[in-house]
Amino acid sequence: MEYANVIVDISHEKLDRVFQYRIPEHLKEHLKTGMQVQFPFGNGNRPMKGYVVGFTDTPDYPPEKIKELDRIMEGGVRAESQLIAMAAWMKERYGSTMNQALKTVLPVKQEIAEKKEVRLRLIVSKEQGEALLKDALHKNFRAKARLLAALLDHGGVLDKKEAADRYKVTAPVIRKFEEDGILVQESRIQYRNPFEGHFEQKERTVLLTEEQQAAVDGIFSEYEKGIRKTYLLQGVTGSGKTEVYMELIARITEEGKQAIVLIPEIALTFQTVRRFYERFGDRVSVMHSRLSDGERYDQFVRAREGSIDVMIGPRSALFTPFSQIGLIIIDEEHEGAYKSETVPRYDAREAAVYRASLCGASVILGSATPSVETAFHARNGQYGWYRLDRRIGRAVLPEVSVVDLREELKAGNRSIFSRRLYSAMDDRMKKGQQMMLFLNRRGLSGFVSCRSCGKAIRCPHCDVTLSLHGDGSLKCHYCGYQIRMPKACPTCGSPYISGFRAGTQQIEREVKKYFPKARVLRMDYDTTRTRESYEKILSAFGKGEADVLVGTQMIVKGHDFPNVTLVGVLAADISLYASDYRAAERTFQLLTQAAGRAGRGEQAGEAVIQTYMPEHYSIQAAVKQDYEAFYRQEIAYRNLMGYPPVETMMGIYLSAGDQELLEEKTKALGIFIREMQQQEVLMIGPADAALTRLNDRYRKVIYLKSRQEEKLLLIKNKTEHYLEMDAGWEKIRVQFDMNPFQA
Ligand code: ADP
Ligand code: ZN
Ligand code: ZN
Repeated sequence: MEYANVIVDISHEKLDRVFQYRIPEHLKEHLKTGMQVQFPFGNGNRPMKGYVVGFTDTPDYPPEKIKELDRIMEGGVRAESQLIAMAAWMKERYGSTMNQALKTVLPVKQEIAEKKEVRLRLIVSKEQGEALLKDALHKNFRAKARLLAALLDHGGVLDKKEAADRYKVTAPVIRKFEEDGILVQESRIQYRNPFEGHFEQKERTVLLTEEQQAAVDGIFSEYEKGIRKTYLLQGVTGSGKTEVYMELIARITEEGKQAIVLIPEIALTFQTVRRFYERFGDRVSVMHSRLSDGERYDQFVRAREGSIDVMIGPRSALFTPFSQIGLIIIDEEHEGAYKSETVPRYDAREAAVYRASLCGASVILGSATPSVETAFHARNGQYGWYRLDRRIGRAVLPEVSVVDLREELKAGNRSIFSRRLYSAMDDRMKKGQQMMLFLNRRGLSGFVSCRSCGKAIRCPHCDVTLSLHGDGSLKCHYCGYQIRMPKACPTCGSPYISGFRAGTQQIEREVKKYFPKARVLRMDYDTTRTRESYEKILSAFGKGEADVLVGTQMIVKGHDFPNVTLVGVLAADISLYASDYRAAERTFQLLTQAAGRAGRGEQAGEAVIQTYMPEHYSIQAAVKQDYEAFYRQEIAYRNLMGYPPVETMMGIYLSAGDQELLEEKTKALGIFIREMQQQEVLMIGPADAALTRLNDRYRKVIYLKSRQEEKLLLIKNKTEHYLEMDAGWEKIRVQFDMNPFQA
């Protein structure tokens, strides 16, 4: 090949294309796709860096105009060609420059020197060694004597660094011994180990339940027949999904394949990794942002060399440079953490399915409360579908009851604990059992609701909650609809309308007020700034050092506390008021997961859900822990309103420091898109974003919806082109978001 296609390492729309360079003769043998190179760029021939993304013999420009590459960057990490294909796909689907996409798929950019360990090994017998030592002492060769003595003391093997630091032995002495055939130097790479000896491999045999076995056999028999697809593993909390993952991984790794296991949060890594380590030992590794650069780099190398089979980590572990992937697992697939919030705003579930298609792997999406998209695909036959409906062992699903907070108000109870929750707490205090109190603050965006009828004020066009702004207006962040804050509830006329204000600190105070003897731990953003504090709280609660754990959604995820017999949800509706179309889905998921925390051990559990809207289907379904009932209602709503997964939705986010410029340009872009006259595409907005102003930048949004995804992608491409051609966009940041998670 004569020419290389390269991408310039700068994220700028105008440079976001392939440039061609001639490959100098001496590099032809060495240059590979994905390598970092340097080349002269522009009129000034400034040296610039970039990535090789392909080769050609037939250039797109006159050959005499094509410049030559300078060199291959030393120490640059090479992107595998499969990851380059991923980057190209992400750029297309989610909207970003190729450079941003490449950065995303390359979790490690630079080579970091490996840590080498050199050991000195005595190769003469112990007796000979002792004789040599005697001789050295006799002749007063002190350094030689020190080294021999140290080697003999250490059973014949000594770390070279220790020989130098502790025994003050210099290199010439070692070399002399080596020449004389007294010792050898053994060098090996010492991989930085992120586990630091935390775990041990264990022999353990688990007899799979019938449901687990059916899932394993079903998926594996298709795998053996060469069928690759995506499966939903829908299993209630504690039904043994992780055992199913591990059994399937054991089978495919036996065939020489590799597996990637994605988990939603670093916080959960510890427990999951321990279980995988106990089963697979050193063949497992982790990749996450809290590792040191050296540790990350080593895991990357070990994966590429094939010295591990299983990589566990959050979203970005999807880009592990394995060459033989057989299985990609996404645990708790409904979690928002799988959607990237930086450009390219990829959805790890979609990206996993795409990567699997490139490398011939199957994908398993596991959850107790699958996302509506995944459930939709399982029902229309696009995904395989297995269910685990029973908990393992004697643990049963908890009793769930719902309390109508409007009734409490009528009965004159103004405390944040309903009478029912209070008496349940009192009962647990007397019995010495533990409880968790949960406040789902996620999505709290300044909504206004009525304390008498429970209704929030919503947009008549989009059916999402309006947000209260500082100037006293209520706004819709999809379409821009706006009204003044009313004096009374539009539904029932009650004057008791207001925003909801209650935090975990307030709950902690109230617990102490009503139960002075209670030992309370609080877990929220403020108390868990570091990973240690997070694990400390959990471990203290696990050891029974507190009676009550108060917290935000952090406390509902994946933790197993057998002595917890009561879970209280203080205001279940908060997440329902979030101003986006996933509010009901998120509420159902949070409530179901929260209830699932109670009664994981011998004693039966109970959950009490307090709400102003007991009639809402997401709350009703969570109370019955009935996923089907929730799904039926939710998909009807998505259908009616044309929200994903029924239609595809694309957000265009615009932000700038200059408000006037932003107004003007957003309006112009709106007109440009409207004039494209795409049939069956609906444009909503432009509107102010949920956060109208962030870091001194003003923010606007435009949403587009269509049943035909290709039409939205076409509009995206044309818009990208428009932004490049039209003047004045330099000061405005524009980002695309496919099927946004949060407004
Ligand atoms: P999930 O991932 O669905 O929440 P887990 O895989 O964590 O469920 O299983 C819950 C508990 O049951 C774990 O402690 C696990 O070790 C145990 N377990 C799972 N399957 C079995 C089995 N077949 N026999 C015995 N114990 C099991
Ligand atoms: Zn009302
Ligand atoms: Zn609206």
